[in-house]
Amino acid sequence: MRPLSLFFLLLFVVILPSFFYLKASIHTREQITPLPEINKDVITGPVVMPQLGNATIKAELGRSSWNLLHTMMGRFPEHPTTDEKEALRSFIYLFSRLYPCGECATEFQAILARYPPQVSSRVAASQWACAVHNIVNQRLQKEIFDCGTVAEKYKCGCDDEKNA
Ligand SMILES: Cc1cc2nc3c(=O)[nH]c(=O)nc-3n(C[C@H](O)[C@H](O)[C@H](O)COP(=O)(O)OP(=O)(O)OC[C@H]3O[C@@H](n4cnc5c(N)ncnc54)[C@H](O)[C@@H]3O)c2cc1C
Repeated sequence: MRPLSLFFLLLFVVILPSFFYLKASIHTREQITPLPEINKDVITGPVVMPQLGNATIKAELGRSSWNLLHTMMGRFPEHPTTDEKEALRSFIYLFSRLYPCGECATEFQAILARYPPQVSSRVAASQWACAVHNIVNQRLQKEIFDCGTVAEKYKCGCDDEKNA
């Protein structure tokens, strides 16, 4: 068989059918897994997780979670859009539902009921997170943190311009 004939044979018998099959299967997968609507009841529902008995794991989980929360607030936009504000508010409520220590999550939901998330700006969000952390600190008889230093402590040091 001549090379050109072999090329056309491969093109029509192998390459093109494979291409259309892959394209169709990706398209089908997109169609059968649409993003579900997230309604308000899901966001503000009750605690999902069971109790976490192990004190060491509870403390480690707490440290890493506070670090995540404070760093997130420290990098939240200074002037967020409505969408960004709602994203942060939803995250905090979902975080309180899904926090892996059930008894901590129950206490945290009670705090959220009294002190709803402040999402109007980076400063508001950072100060809110610092304040609710201090409420937990107080209950656990830990030192109260100076919220005036929170921006300095949790700036992540990333090169924003290069990573934008
Ligand atoms: C939402 C949530 C609820 C929790 N509920 C409970 C609970 O009910 N029972 C329980 O036993 N544990 C709970 N924990 C864990 C608890 O808060 C601590 O994380 C854990 O006891 C370890 O404490 P730590 O002394 O190492 O410091 P952490 O409180 O974990 O703090 C870590 C570091 O953050 C800094 N920091 C401290 N306070 C602040 C602040 N206000 N703002 C900014 N930075 C601060 C300090 O540098 C500190 O060393 C909870 C954690 C979270 C995230």
